[in-house]
Formats: sequence, structure tokens, C-alpha cells
Amino acid sequence: MPKPIFTEIQSKKLKKLGILNTLDLLLHLPLRYEDKTKINLIKDIRPGSMFQIEAKIISIEVTYRPRKNLIIHVSDKSGDLKLRFLHFYSSQVKQFDEGKILRVYGEIKSNAFLFEMIHPQYEFVSLDTPLKNFYSPVYPLTEGLSQKTIFKLVQKVFEKEDFINQHSDYFEDLYKKRNLPSLFEALKLIHKPSNKFEKKIFDERKSIFHQRLIYDELLAHQFFFRGQYHVNKSYRARPIKYSDDIQKSFLSNLEFKLTKKQHSVFSEIKNDLKQTYPMNRLLQGDVGSGKTVVATMAAIQIINSGYQVAFMAPTEILAMQHYEKLSSWLTNLGIRVELLIGSMGSKLKAESYERIKKGTANLVVGTHALIQEKVEFKFLGFYIIDEQHRFGVKQRFALRKNNESFKNFEPHQLMMSATPIPRTLAMSYFSDMDISIINELLPGRKSVTTKLFSNERRNEILNTINQHCLKNNQVYWVCPLVEESETLQLETAKKTFKILSNYFINHKVGLIHGRLDSDKKKEIMNQFKNNQIKILIATTVVEVGVDVPNATLMVIENAERMGLSQLHQLRGRVGRGKKESICIMLYQKKLSDLAKERLKVIYENNDGFKIAEEDLKLRGPGEFLGLKQSGLPSLIIADLERDQKLLEIVKQDADFLLKIDSKYISNHINRWHKNYQDLGRS
Ligand code: ADP
Ligand code: MG
Repeated sequence: MPKPIFTEIQSKKLKKLGILNTLDLLLHLPLRYEDKTKINLIKDIRPGSMFQIEAKIISIEVTYRPRKNLIIHVSDKSGDLKLRFLHFYSSQVKQFDEGKILRVYGEIKSNAFLFEMIHPQYEFVSLDTPLKNFYSPVYPLTEGLSQKTIFKLVQKVFEKEDFINQHSDYFEDLYKKRNLPSLFEALKLIHKPSNKFEKKIFDERKSIFHQRLIYDELLAHQFFFRGQYHVNKSYRARPIKYSDDIQKSFLSNLEFKLTKKQHSVFSEIKNDLKQTYPMNRLLQGDVGSGKTVVATMAAIQIINSGYQVAFMAPTEILAMQHYEKLSSWLTNLGIRVELLIGSMGSKLKAESYERIKKGTANLVVGTHALIQEKVEFKFLGFYIIDEQHRFGVKQRFALRKNNESFKNFEPHQLMMSATPIPRTLAMSYFSDMDISIINELLPGRKSVTTKLFSNERRNEILNTINQHCLKNNQVYWVCPLVEESETLQLETAKKTFKILSNYFINHKVGLIHGRLDSDKKKEIMNQFKNNQIKILIATTVVEVGVDVPNATLMVIENAERMGLSQLHQLRGRVGRGKKESICIMLYQKKLSDLAKERLKVIYENNDGFKIAEEDLKLRGPGEFLGLKQSGLPSLIIADLERDQKLLEIVKQDADFLLKIDSKYISNHINRWHKNYQDLGRS
């Protein structure tokens, strides 16, 4: 057994930084660098940056007023300087002797009275002590671990003989082609950059050595996500024949005509379904762009070929709404539509399970209840996942595994999302799928006018609501999640309900929230749909998919606390009919700069893609995708936004290596993200 390079105490502390082995240590990258490669004259140093000087100690002074300070007066041939220490040991004081030479690194504080360095780094030197010829790395630290210790440990790893073997370049030709240095060289220089290079490019992580690591991390990421795309093609699925007749009779019964875009997306799907491997497609389209009908057409084909379809939505309200719509569209085509949601009651559920198992239920609409173990399909041929962004990356992969019922054949899959996925994310986290986009408003759709009101103007809103109701239009009033507390949210909603019911004696006010049972929810949504309830107070349950074209006004409280994409989704609940619609976003003063920035984005933009891009910029991919909860590791050094250009190249290279099935793919994934493996399906 070779001697471990960390002592036990070090191991414990390193663990706090997420460092479990030498590779982790090497990937613990410097945040920035310090330049101790040259000596500056005291007369040349200026406030605002760090300088190194070399000077002789003139005198040592300990002052007690206003508090205990140690002041070392030093001078070089160009001038004098004070070094001030606020925390020090008496043993430390003894080290300083007049006449000794100090090398000091720090930042100068200066005003009319002062010219001094506070708590500079220092070392005692002699006149011939050589200067460093590399920039000193500054690492993220934890208590009890110093910069020096980490630096030494890192350097010790490089000295080990087998280092190069352990960190070999798996894809040598590729790195050559892309003009990238070896991993060994890259790591070595990042941890100890020679002063031949410009320091700035290291600080900004723009050196060719950083590029190599970024490339590698992105490659691992692509292997994992894009890898699924290639793997998917090796699975078998039932090819689905296209029947023109049934589609024609479906379309002729619809109350509207499909747009060109809807037709073209459907033909992409149609083409996928013909293949002998499973479709794995993401259909993106802004809220209200008409995705459901396209998914339904796909479902019709599968059912016509003799297989079952599951249609999963994130909330019960949405599932019930889909159930109703799909029943009304499909029942007269002889298709049996089934509902399956958690709150349904065990007897109804059991009956539903039975029909699903026997295969008499053709299309099953439901919530997460659909992926419970008890649900057994006779021959599931197709999965539709609505509002897939609500399901998180991990669930997405879990769902793909959940098809035991259809042995040897995988069901086709269609995901739908109204949160458009910015290009960089589509190229990485979603690169296992093919993507279709509906990027036009439906005919006659009006874009929604957005207004921003501070809370103080609430009373004006009552008047606006009244006007909308008098025109026989309807209103949503949304109380979003406050402080992550569902109880508080419910309280706010109930209070608002009381106030508005008292105020609007002539218009019926309703209240809907997540805690109601499904019958009650259904009843209230129906009353709203039928225009009995004029004003609906809702918690964020209305967020996804609800479709009431007669609603023309939406009020959103505490808009400043919500994600941009979520706000955009909510706003999409109005403007669904032919009438002009308004969304009033209320905010609580005083707004932070970031909050102002965010509200400006939502105010100025009606395009979901643009909003998603901005949201991504403001929140970062982790939060945007809900990765934080998913357990997926975040990127260490790559930044999808900044490294977009490189990502394009990496994607090509990853595709090439995946196609030739290079034997190092899993080694490479492992090197970068061990936990990716857990998410795979085999
Ligand atoms: P989303 O893409 O948000 O899921 P939906 O599928 O719910 O949007 O569509 C919104 C509304 O527009 C629904 O009432 C739907 O029936 C209707 N719709 C869909 N396609 C068209 C079309 N081509 N013309 C008019 N209305 C349409
Ligand atoms: Mg929808």
C-alpha cells in the first residue's frame, strides 16, 4: 500500500471542501492568483490592487488606543510604509527585529492621514532570497486548512510517479486536433502558472490549460446526456403505422383548424413513430401555443395501432382538465379515456387499474399516480409528459425506466414544455432528445399587456376588476408562495377571498388551492369555466395549463418573489381568447436591484424564449432546471453561457466518440462526475 498523501486530520478537513481523493484535490481549482514574482518600490504602490514590496524593519510599536495594534515601520530605498496588525500573538511581536528584511504582500490603504497595509502577508528573507517564478494560487478554504497546506498537498500529488498514468489522456488524437494541452500539463499549470504567462488569463480562467479542463468537463456532460440519445436508438419500439382516415375524422370534429406549425410538428412526430426505436422528443411552445392537440393526434395513432397511451400532468387540476378535453375530443372516435389521480378514492382507483391492466382503457390521463407501482399497463405504447419542466431531470430519467409492462419494447415518448429551454441547456441537459418548437401565436391571439403596480396601489385594482366583470369577463387573482410556506400562502389567499367577496357583492368570487380535494377543485374550476365564478382567487395551482379563454385580467401578488418563467406561465392564463387582456403584477417595495431587473424583463418581454434566456442568466442553470433538488452535480469549471462556442465543438466531438463507441467513454464520465452513473438506466 502506498502511503496516503493526506493525514487523517487533513482528510477530515478536505472532506468539508468535497475533496475525497487526489483527483478531487486537483479539481479544487484556484479562485485567482497572486503575483509575488516581482518587487515594487514603496513609492510606486497605489491603493486598489495588491503589491509586493521588500523592505527593512525600522521600528516596532505596540499601541493601545483605541485598541491594541502592532505597527511595523518599514522602509525601502524609495520610501516608508506602516504595516498594521490588529490580531497578533506576543510571540509574533518578538519575531520582528529592527534591521530584518521583510517581503510583504498586501493592499495599501491610504487617505490624507494614512499610508499603510493592514494584515499583509509577510515573510522574512535575506537579500539573495530568489523571487517566485510562478503566480501563487488562492484556493477556496475551510477552517483549519491554509493556502500553504493545500498548495503543498497539490504539489505533492504531482510528484507522485504514477500521476501521469492515473491521469492519462483518453482521447489523445482529439486533444491534438483541438490544440489542447495534456491533462497533466493543464493541471500542473493551473495550480502553479509560470510567470511567462499573463496573470490575467489565469485569473479569468481563459488560459489554454483552463480550456482543456472546461473541454473535458463539457465532454463528460455530453457523454452522459447525449449518450442517452445514442443509446436510445439501440432500443426497440413498435413502429406505428399512420392512418389518414382517423386523423381526418378527428380534425373535422375540431372547433378550429390546425396552424401550419402544428401540422409540421405533427409530421416530425409521425416520422419518429414509424421508426423501430422509441421516439424521444421534446415539444416546446410558449403557453397557449396549442401543444395538446398535437400530442393528442400522436396518441390517436398509437391507439389506432392497438396500444395504450399515458398522458401525465404535474397537477390534478391540469390532469382533470386534460381528461375532460380529451374525452370530449376522442370519445366519439371510440377511444376510452381514463382518469387516474391520487385523490380519486381507492375504489375508483382500483377500477381504473383494472381497465388499464385489461387494456380497455386506451388513453390514461393522470398525475404522478400514473407511475406508481400498482399501475400496470397491458401494452403501453406511448407516454406523454406535459409541462415536463415540473418534473426535474432525475424524474425524467426515472420515468424512462418505468415501463416494465411492455417487455422488450420501449414506449415512444413525448415531453412537452411551456418553459422554453435556452439553447445552451437544450444542447446539454436536453441533448438526449429531439426537439420540436412551436414558435408562433395561435390565430387571433392577443399578446397580454403587463402592468407593474406597487402594493400601495392595490385599491386602484378593485376598480379595474369591476370593469372587467361588468364586460362579462373574468379575473384571476393569484397569491404566490410566500416564504416557501404553504400555510402562509393559504392564509393570504383566504384573506384576499374575504376582502374581495365583501367588496364585490354582485360578482361571484371563488377560492381554489392545493389543499382542496379533487372533487371540490373540479367543482370550482367548472364554475369558473362556466362563468359563474367571476373572480377566482388562487394559489399557484393555476400556474400550469389551465384554459379559460374568457379570463381577461390576472392579478399576481408578490411578483418580485417569483421566477420569471413562472410569472410568464401564469400570465399565459389570460389572453387565451380574442379579447384584450391585462396582467397586473403587484410588488412589495422596496425592490432590490436584482428584483427590479427581473420585473423589467417580464414587463418588456412577451416572448417566452427571451424570458427563459434572461431567467437562466439571472438564476443560473442549477435553479433554472431544478437541478439543485435533483442531485445532479453542478459544473465545476465549465459555464454553459460563457463556453457556448466550445460547447458546439465538444458536442461534435462527443457525437463522434459515441458513434465509434470509444471504450474510454465511461472512464471519462467517471473522472468528472461519478454520480452521473446512478442516473443512467443500465
Ligand atoms: P399549450 O401549448 O399551452 O398546452 P393548449 O394546447 O392548451 O396550449 O392550447 C390552448 C388553447 O388553444 C386550447 O383551448 C386549444 O384547444 C386551442 N387551440 C389549439 N390549437 C388551436 C388552433 N390551431 N386554433 C385555435 N385554437 C387552438
Ligand atoms: Mg398545455
